[in-house]
Amino acid sequence: MERKIRVLVGKPGLDGHDRGALVIAQALRDEGMEVVYTGLRQTPAQIVSAAIQEDVDCIGLSCLSGAHNELFPEVVRLLREQQADDILVVGGGVIPNEDIPYLESQGIAKIFTPGSPTREIAGFIRERVKPKQTRFVEPPKKIVHIGIAVNKIETALPFYCGQLGLPLLGQEEVASEQVKVAFLGIGDTRLELLEPLGPDSPIASFLAKRGEGIHHIALEVDDLEQRLATLREGGVRLIHETPKEGAHQALIAFLHPKQANGVLFELCQYPQQSKEETTDE
Ligand code: ZN
Repeated sequence: MERKIRVLVGKPGLDGHDRGALVIAQALRDEGMEVVYTGLRQTPAQIVSAAIQEDVDCIGLSCLSGAHNELFPEVVRLLREQQADDILVVGGGVIPNEDIPYLESQGIAKIFTPGSPTREIAGFIRERVKPKQTRFVEPPKKIVHIGIAVNKIETALPFYCGQLGLPLLGQEEVASEQVKVAFLGIGDTRLELLEPLGPDSPIASFLAKRGEGIHHIALEVDDLEQRLATLREGGVRLIHETPKEGAHQALIAFLHPKQANGVLFELCQYPQQSKEETTDE
């Protein structure tokens, strides 16, 4: 379920006809968008402040009065002034063809002349707004660890420590998960060898189903709670709906591997910056 695209339809200036604007508003609603209509005779400042308040992705301006060359660029200028110029601006109405290059040079993304099919307008908005919906997601900072399911840590260590030469930073038993973990340092990341402590351990069922191998990849993120909410809104299936406490005072949550081509991802948020490597001291 994607977030619906929100559009504000505004009529700047003095003309008194909004039938065209209302038709567009309804057509965009029929295309699955949420549409706010500001009504007639709005100033550019009123339109911009409504757009910011309503958190819209796009402003559709309609003007029949002939003042589009002043009013449309003024809306773009005010958006820029309020650092809201990620809002897409499109225009329509009675606009002579020779004015279009000027308006587009002023930051109006596209001018739709009368008779433009509403499908085309909706398609343009959808295409241009889409990247914005994912832009506010910060990428994860790094891989904090890779979890590897093993039958026995003891028999795995000679390869990882002896042959590969990775330092063993510590071992820990996590009773709640029935798992024993060996932490191996590699750069500022770690490998974690995961051994089941009982038949009810999630690692035991993983081993039974798939045998030894990579179990999960853990990514460090900021603000885990917000990120889970965003993922949920985006239709991503979560194993943990809210953060739970993990090792090293981290908050963690797992995503369902179905989302990620069969890879189980763990998201970790640490109290300060990326300090996991120092927590074993
Ligand atoms: Zn982990």
